[in-house]
Amino acid sequence: MKGLSIHLTDVCNSKCTFCIVDSPYMKQDTVMRRRISRFLHEHAGQDYEAVNLHGGEATIRKDFLEILDEIRELGYPTVFLQTNARKLARMAYAETVVGKGVSLFIVSLHGATAATQDGISLAPGSFDQAVQGIRNVKQLGASVRTNSVVCKDNYTELPEIVDLCMDLGADVVNISALHTSGTALRNFWDVTPRYDDIRPYVAEACDRAVARGVALRLEGFPYCGVPGYERFQIDWEDNKFKMLYRSFVMDDYEGHMDDFTRVKDARCGGCVFTDVCGGVYKEYAEMIGWDEFHPVTQRPADNPAPVS
Ligand code: SF4
Repeated sequence: MKGLSIHLTDVCNSKCTFCIVDSPYMKQDTVMRRRISRFLHEHAGQDYEAVNLHGGEATIRKDFLEILDEIRELGYPTVFLQTNARKLARMAYAETVVGKGVSLFIVSLHGATAATQDGISLAPGSFDQAVQGIRNVKQLGASVRTNSVVCKDNYTELPEIVDLCMDLGADVVNISALHTSGTALRNFWDVTPRYDDIRPYVAEACDRAVARGVALRLEGFPYCGVPGYERFQIDWEDNKFKMLYRSFVMDDYEGHMDDFTRVKDARCGGCVFTDVCGGVYKEYAEMIGWDEFHPVTQRPADNPAPVS
């Protein structure tokens, strides 16, 4: 997959305690429509297979629907939307968004219950809205990839979160390691769980997805963070996104993430996964250290290549 990825807004209608964009602290948007339009025009007709939109919360931009129109007029084949799905709880709005070409909704679902999700988002009602939003777009024939970020407040219910995602008809279930920047860095000790603590819950969540035959992806974890589940790590070699982030353009988003947000240490040199593993988020390594991470010296026989 060769795609474009656009950060549409800094602001959000939720205030997640681990927001990497730091939206809860953004007073106003810095993202200019003319910069978005220029990026879309510059890359039109160059075989990009999809435009991935994200924020903040993209749907709260006043010109969000106009941007979808512009993407379609420029001939991009499809649109992916990363969203908290709160506005999609209104069926008429979900119909409009699907009608304007969004085929894949990547929906944040961080709790199996309203108490957990609303406690993380600091937005009462956000759980019910997300669940209804997923139901609506599935009913309209769109695909859904759920994304659940593992934090201190939800890791013990991760298997139940994955159960819920599958019950709602998610086509792909994504589990993400907490990226310790933005609001997550401000709240580091309140939101960041230890790998030793989350490991059994991530493993159980993976096992439940496998048992039901639902596609599962692990994102942002060092390969040794969840041993035995390496085959579920996303292989970014098959997915190249060129990203517009405010006024910066990153030719290879995931390569940038590996180079600037994650680190390895000397032990990684002797690890069989060192070529494909992105390492550990640098703030985690600095503040908690490397004691939980052990190089893998032999590739497990039942572990084929990661999935795209
Ligand atoms: S030891 Fe290093 S390269 Fe190996 S899986 Fe862990 S973090 Fe990745």
